[in-house]
Order: sequence, then structure tokens, then C-alpha cells
Amino acid sequence: MTDQTRRFLQEKYQVSEALLRLHDQALADIQGEIAYYDEVREYNQLKVLHAFQEERISESMFGLTTGYGYGDLGREKLDALYARVFGANAALVRPHFVNGTHAISCALFGNLRPGDTLLTVTGRPYDTLHQVIGIGGKNPAGSLKDLGIFYQEIDLLAGGLDFSAIATALEDPSIKMVHLQRSTGYSWRPSLSIATLREGIAYIKSLRSDIIVFVDNCYGEFVETLEPTQVGADLMAGSLIKNPGGSIAPTGGYIAGREDLVEHAAYRLTVPGIGGECGSTFGVTRLMFQGFFLSPLITMEAVKSAVFAARLMECAGFCVKPSSKEKRTDIIQAIRFGEKEPLIRFVKGIQYGAPVDSFVSCEPWAMPGYEDPVIMASGAFIQGSSIELSCDAPIREPYIAYLQGGITFDHARMGILTALAQVLEKQ
Ligand SMILES: *Cc1c(COP(=O)(O)O)cnc(C)c1O
Repeated sequence: MTDQTRRFLQEKYQVSEALLRLHDQALADIQGEIAYYDEVREYNQLKVLHAFQEERISESMFGLTTGYGYGDLGREKLDALYARVFGANAALVRPHFVNGTHAISCALFGNLRPGDTLLTVTGRPYDTLHQVIGIGGKNPAGSLKDLGIFYQEIDLLAGGLDFSAIATALEDPSIKMVHLQRSTGYSWRPSLSIATLREGIAYIKSLRSDIIVFVDNCYGEFVETLEPTQVGADLMAGSLIKNPGGSIAPTGGYIAGREDLVEHAAYRLTVPGIGGECGSTFGVTRLMFQGFFLSPLITMEAVKSAVFAARLMECAGFCVKPSSKEKRTDIIQAIRFGEKEPLIRFVKGIQYGAPVDSFVSCEPWAMPGYEDPVIMASGAFIQGSSIELSCDAPIREPYIAYLQGGITFDHARMGILTALAQVLEKQ
């Protein structure tokens, strides 16, 4: 960091000299990690570029369709492009998915039938899926449970998947689908690396080759050089306001995997018989192509930001997960504050450091789909976008903030620094 930048931070942001030294140390300490993730990014960029060329993506696919959206060339090519990059037979990439939860739900509802059981082997799934499944006290009309679809859950062990519990559970013939969540979500556990997923999926398939293995891939895309569908997953889904939208796609989600399973999911998004063959895209596909092209770069800006945040907070004496040295498989950085006040100050500080709505003071509130009040900093160009620098925390013990995103590493470093200033300078 130049003297000019330091003076700017001191004068305009009241960042202390001590904090600047902490920044320098953190940045110096993570140079090895940065070099590693730059190599992952380089490979993924090439992989995406090659897929664009193989699919012969052209300007004529960026047009606007209306009405039924029959023969929307961009929509069809976007599906083919995602499928190719993710090593899947088919994909469904749509602005009509309102979020990641919706994409995941279509994959579940489209492929499970009354009497079937969904087994999750990575502990309690992400908060917004509880009502979809019908667990956690709330069971809205039309949940899986309401439709007569059963649910079983196996927790993760400290060392990873609980293989013996999985083997026992799979003796139940009603289990049709196994759900694995790659990212931590709002929990203090390691994310599942591609290597762990590969091993787990191979084990499940060795016991029951008929099982549909579904992976919630939210936050995982392009953090490693392979995706779950390239290591045995039958189906996966994610959000376009996270990694694969590259901060450019204005909304949407995707599902990728085996052709029949993707089609069944498409029947849920629209209707049986029509599936993915209808749906006008209002001219939004160009942004979805462009965002996907940028995603390897943007995702790595977010990963570097997370590694930096981990190191900075370690240096400041906080407990973080993953540590700055652990290999990542998603973009989430959990920081444990142990108390409510510093947690809230940190989240507010991220908001103050945002390019959009920096003057807003965020407060905890009851969000649809979440059980505890959540405080959320998201000064983003796209509402709720968490590939942009953002931070959220359910207000519950042990007061953990989940930080993610950062579409430029420079901005993220500044934002994290000013957030830490909020915590330290008011102690
Ligand atoms: C973000 C996320 C989802 C879906 O969340 P939306 O806000 O609906 O996009 C699901 N699972 C995990 C692990 C996530 O991180």
C-alpha cells in the first residue's frame, strides 16, 4: 500500500496506524494463498473461454424474446454452456428462478414423490430450506413433508461425512435422494471440498447405485477446478447472484446434471410437458453470458477477500473458520465474535464500507425463510447479491458473522479494514 493510500485511509476513514500495520502484515502473510488461487482462476477462465468457443456463442444470442419465448436461442445456448463447463449432460439456467432456494426446491420437488425419503448427510441444511422440507417447527402448505415426502438427517462428524451412519440409513429403501451441502451456510463447520465430495459420492453409489445424489453448490462454483457434477453428483443447483452470475447477472439460478433429472426439475419450474422449452428472457441473457464469463475472476476476488479477512481477523485475535491457511471450496468466511455488540458493529462497518447505501445503518430483522433475526450488510449493485462484499449474521450464540464476496479485492480489503476499525476502536 502506498503512502498516498495510507494517508487517504487515515484522513478520510480514520483508520489508525496500528490497523494499517495489521493490514500490511495480513496481506504479506497470504501471498502464497493468493498465488495458488490465481492459478485456479487462470485454469477456470480457460475452461470457460473454451466452452464459449465450442458452443459457438454469438451476438445473435443476446437478443430479446417475449411471450412464450419459443426458440430463444440465448436461453438454449446458456443451458448448453453451463452443462459443458460443469461437465453435466444438461443444465437449466434461468432468470425465472427467484433465488438459489427456488432452484434447489425445483430440483427436490421435481425428483421426489410421495413416500420417498430425502436424506441429508451434511447436517441441517441452509436455513431457507427448512420450510421447503418442513422441518424446524414450520411446515407450510406444499412443503415436502406436506406432500408426504419424508426426511432424514445425518450430522457431519469432526472429520467429515459419517460413513457408518450413511450405510445404515441407506438400508431404508424409501431413500431416493441424498442431499449434500458443499458450503457451510450458517454453521461453524468446514465446507466440503471437491475431494471429500468425490469420496462421499463414490461411497453412497457403491452402496446404492440408484440413489440420486444432489449437491447444493451455492457459493462453490469456480473455487476449485472441478464441480460436483464432475465427481459423481447427479444433480446440483446454485444461485446467479452468487459466484456463477459473476456479479453481472441481475437475478436467477441454475440446475445442472443428468438430463432426465434436470428435465423433471424444469417441469417444476414451469409445468410438466413444457419444462425448459418456454420462458422469455427479456433480453437478460447477455448479462448472464457475460457474468458467467467473468465468474472465474470475480469468484477469486471474493476468495482472496475471504482469505485476507481471515488473516486480518486472526491477527486481531479473533477465531475464524476456515483459517487463512486452509484450502477453500467456497467463498464464505465465518468470524466468531462471541458477543452481540461487536458482531453488530462489524456488520454495520461492512455496510459503511460499501459503494451503494454506505450511509445506511443496518439492523437485525426477521427475514422471510429465516428463523432467527438476521443482520445483513449488503451495499450491493444487485439487491442481496452475496458475490458482492456482504456480511450477514443470525442473531444467536456464539455470534458468528458470515462474510462473503468482494467483486474487487481492493474494495474488499478497504471494507474489511473499516469494519474492523468499527469493532476495535469502540472497545
Ligand atoms: C445462498 C444459499 C442458498 C440459497 O439461498 P438464496 O438466498 O435463496 O439464493 C442455499 N444454500 C446455501 C448453502 C447457500 O449458501
